[in-house]
Amino acid sequence: VIVGVARETASGERRVALTPETCKKLVAAGASVRIQPGIGDGAHFPDQAYADAGAELREDALAEADAVLCVQPPANPVLAGLKPGAVLVGSLQPQADEGRAAAIRERGLLAFPLERLPRTTRAQAMDVLSSQAGMAGYKAVLIAAQLAPRFFPMLTTAAGTIRPSKVLIVGAGVAGLQAIATAKRLGAQVEGFDVRPETREQIESLGGKFLDLGVSAAGEGGYARALTDEERAEQQRRLAEHLKNVDVIVCTAAVPGRPAPKIISAAMVAGMKPGSVIVDLAAETGGNCELTEPGQTIDRGRVIVAGPLNLASMGAQHASEMYARNVYNFVALLLKEGALAFDWDDELLAKTVWPERGK
Ligand code: NAD
Repeated sequence: VIVGVARETASGERRVALTPETCKKLVAAGASVRIQPGIGDGAHFPDQAYADAGAELREDALAEADAVLCVQPPANPVLAGLKPGAVLVGSLQPQADEGRAAAIRERGLLAFPLERLPRTTRAQAMDVLSSQAGMAGYKAVLIAAQLAPRFFPMLTTAAGTIRPSKVLIVGAGVAGLQAIATAKRLGAQVEGFDVRPETREQIESLGGKFLDLGVSAAGEGGYARALTDEERAEQQRRLAEHLKNVDVIVCTAAVPGRPAPKIISAAMVAGMKPGSVIVDLAAETGGNCELTEPGQTIDRGRVIVAGPLNLASMGAQHASEMYARNVYNFVALLLKEGALAFDWDDELLAKTVWPERGK
């Protein structure tokens, strides 16, 4: 089997779906690995490391590939030129782009968008949503610390005492919990809240305080459900009062398949202390804060609101290491003695493949 990896072309994408480590593993499993030169440049993996791991470097790495690995999908014309029936593994979001969906269908590609993986225990080692959310939560807090005109930790100095910043993390999923741990390490006073009640214990185990807004909305599959109008109003009322005393908010709340819930209103922001900072990691899906502009940092002299995109790419080396291991673990399900084989009784394949089987 020929496994091909091309340079990522999405704007600002520094991550790569194959590292020298996973390249070596694929070669050991009997694959021929072909890569375009420079695939690892953005994440600081040099070409030579891939060559040492057994990869063949060539500009036409995808031309005869039986399996193509990517972070973000290749451009549609590239997809349309892949070997018919080739396997495609990555964060593909086929429904997000009609041209992409058409290229996958028309070329008869066997696409495995990893964001479709069922979130079972067995799938954890392949779960790119989790591995990348961890980096995003970490970087979001560092951005907040960087933008804040204040210290995070408490300081006792000859120039007086500085009180620690109060950091509130909205949403305590994978990204939110990493954000809590990171803010805590920087010495802030950290609080978090979520609508899933089991997060109380998780937040507290990281040294954070659970902010109880009186709303509990656990949904299916361990995810949150959208709030009713009454629940939302209750959450908003309690939150508005609380935010007057918060220095930094990091937003991470999401509901699968829906735009990010709007939790922080413009009026709440207006009630915050001047010099407060909001970093909205949910910007990608519209943001948890009404004022968020995706990709922008707005500083109108009072509260700074940042909506950074693709935070995982900012930590491209470790994010790629984790992403590439996720991809390798998935591809290993498809490799039998150096050839591709598909066990459609395995739910990890059957539930992930797109278009769905039979459609
Ligand atoms: P996510 O990115 O979909 O959402 C982030 C958080 O936002 C969630 O915790 C959610 O409850 C919260 N949220 C949604 N609406 C909210 C609101 N109005 N107010 C406050 N918070 C709100 O979630 P995620 O990080 O991908 O993970 C969510 C769940 O999935 C967790 O229980 C996690 O443990 C579980 N999970 C399981 C596996 C696995 O077993 N393989 C892997 C990853 C995650």
